[in-house]
Amino acid sequence: MLKELWILIKLLFGKGPNEVEKVELMGMNHFPFKGYAYLMWCGKMIYRNDTLERRRKEWLTKAYRVSKNHETIHLAQAKVCGSWVKYYWRYFCEWIKGNPLLHPSSSAYYTIPYECEAYANEENMEYSKEYFGYNLPKYTLKKRKKLYKEAGGSSKDWKAYVKTL
Ligand SMILES: [Zn+2]
Repeated sequence: MLKELWILIKLLFGKGPNEVEKVELMGMNHFPFKGYAYLMWCGKMIYRNDTLERRRKEWLTKAYRVSKNHETIHLAQAKVCGSWVKYYWRYFCEWIKGNPLLHPSSSAYYTIPYECEAYANEENMEYSKEYFGYNLPKYTLKKRKKLYKEAGGSSKDWKAYVKTL
């Protein structure tokens, strides 16, 4: 456990996003926590080694290609930020801005501009090529929680809504 935690810390302070060419899979014994399929971290999609059989089947599906592309968009965003620490700090501040303690709490995550952009474009496999972050302001929304509720109040409704922006 500690050994793997150390690997995660090294990923954060090691190779910067601009040195990471593409999103890669990585197996671990203790991460992500049981019940979660992946831990997305510093350009890695980390899965639990004890779920390898299930993951292998999933890697052949379209849903997997879409979620890998979603992570590739996050990698492109981090490249523009310049470092993982800066990127995750900004990401965290945006999550706080979304009021995670107020209902519906998941809206704080879904309305993070980085997530809006990734959800809106995850099916466009070309999106992160030639990425300079020019579209990000479009996904920086005001009154996020109110907007989330007006869009329907569920993650599914929100994912459809951000595609219209
Ligand atoms: Zn995301």
